[in-house]
Amino acid sequence: MNNYKALDAKDREFLVSLLGEERVYTGETISEDFSHDELGGISQRPEVLVNVLSTDEVSKIMSYAYENNIPVVARGSGTGLVGASVPIFGGIMLNMCGMNKILELDEENLTLTLEPGVLLMEISKYVEEHDLFYPPDPGEKSATIAGNINTNAGGMRAVKYGVTRDYIRGLEIVLPTGKVINLGGKVVKNSSGYSVKDLICGSEGTLGIVTKVILKLIPLPKKAISLLLPFPDLDSAISTVPKIIKSKSIPTAIEFMQREVILAAEEFLGKKFPDNTSDAYLLLTFDGNSTEELESDYEKVANICLEEGALDAFIIDTDERKEAVWSARGAFLEAVKATTTDMDECDVVVPRNKVAEFIKYTDLLQEQFNVRIRSFGHAGDGNLHVYVLKDALTDAEWKEKLDEVFAAMYKKSRELEGLVSGEHGIGYAKKGYMFDQYEPEYVELMRNIKLAFDPKNILNPGKVCE
Ligand SMILES: Cc1cc2nc3c(=O)[nH]c(=O)nc-3n(C[C@H](O)[C@H](O)[C@H](O)COP(=O)(O)OP(=O)(O)OC[C@H]3O[C@@H](n4cnc5c(N)ncnc54)[C@H](O)[C@@H]3O)c2cc1C
Repeated sequence: MNNYKALDAKDREFLVSLLGEERVYTGETISEDFSHDELGGISQRPEVLVNVLSTDEVSKIMSYAYENNIPVVARGSGTGLVGASVPIFGGIMLNMCGMNKILELDEENLTLTLEPGVLLMEISKYVEEHDLFYPPDPGEKSATIAGNINTNAGGMRAVKYGVTRDYIRGLEIVLPTGKVINLGGKVVKNSSGYSVKDLICGSEGTLGIVTKVILKLIPLPKKAISLLLPFPDLDSAISTVPKIIKSKSIPTAIEFMQREVILAAEEFLGKKFPDNTSDAYLLLTFDGNSTEELESDYEKVANICLEEGALDAFIIDTDERKEAVWSARGAFLEAVKATTTDMDECDVVVPRNKVAEFIKYTDLLQEQFNVRIRSFGHAGDGNLHVYVLKDALTDAEWKEKLDEVFAAMYKKSRELEGLVSGEHGIGYAKKGYMFDQYEPEYVELMRNIKLAFDPKNILNPGKVCE
């Protein structure tokens, strides 16, 4: 049982003395935006919202909160999809978005040092101007780098380049006690004890507050091209993926999509996709440093796909085609949302040869529960985005069906040796499904790790493993 202290005038006074009136908000002066993230259904305003600007401020607030047993939640842009940044116990919310400076580009060590609130879109723009590349590419570019670190954000380029965790060289964090520690650094290798830095990636703000980041960069590939491959059905599209990966011409992204989602995107954007006549599609991208290298890669892969039953191979090389394909891919989530009254998302990851089996299972669930289900996702890494749509169901019917359909999907994912979340994390919304998956000993280990960082359980309580 958590006996957190309710904030009073004295606590507010402390925060105002540290930050000034203009950076401390209480009650109705806190915008409703800070009570939720992009997941519907769970919302709670913090008792106090503060805009922090330095590590020192974060450290002083944490040590005050620690002494007084006040819960604290760090918040980036609030684009999360599992309720991870919702302050379910009230307390203090630290808005990290004002700590948004790029501090140093080290072109010899290929690192970028920056504050936690820098946005993903600013990072790519900045490094590309210096002919460098930060490969992780999650769909929501207005997310902060610390939000990306804390959810170990993925994205389409994971097939070739990996995820956020693979590009974190060093972190400065403030512990729940207020103590500041540094993890990793600019070094390339590190075998110096437990990798606490890697534990922070994906910890959803439950272990420490990230106040500085050192990212790994790589040289910017000079050229990129995409290939769109229509297949007669999802099975033949998905069964081609392991063959593509084995062919040694590693695509940057391998996405799958089905006709219904393409039609929804056409309707949503009012723009035509290059082709919408087939049931299933693979969309691949390749990058490299010369046209010859790219041509040899995509020709090899196009031939494999044609041998495996692809009906055609469209090279997406003109600006017009690129825009048609990528604006549609970028709009899938919003396009599906626009076709219904409400929806919820399951983001399991399964071994990549099981993607078709999982999606076919969701087709059966549609019929069994008489509910619409739409999906698309990352065929190259087995991470699916499956949406259950509310349509005309009442709230009560929707809740009941959603619980049953989700329980069935997560059960199926376990049978296929998948995991609860390939992207977006556990937060508040997916805890139950994670508990169903892991042995009690695993959960206990996670709880003990949490306790080692946060003995009073004041940092983002009620999330991930609680
Ligand atoms: C349209 C859309 C597309 C998306 N596409 C993708 C995608 O392709 N891949 C993907 O992985 N996600 C995707 N997301 C989800 C979301 O963008 C990511 O989870 C993102 O990493 C959240 O970043 P944020 O800055 O918005 O963090 P928030 O939502 O504000 O917070 C997320 C978590 O990080 C913690 N946190 C934030 N800052 C700090 C800090 N400084 N220190 C400690 N903890 C902190 C919070 O407490 C919370 O637990 C998408 C979301 C939307 C709406």
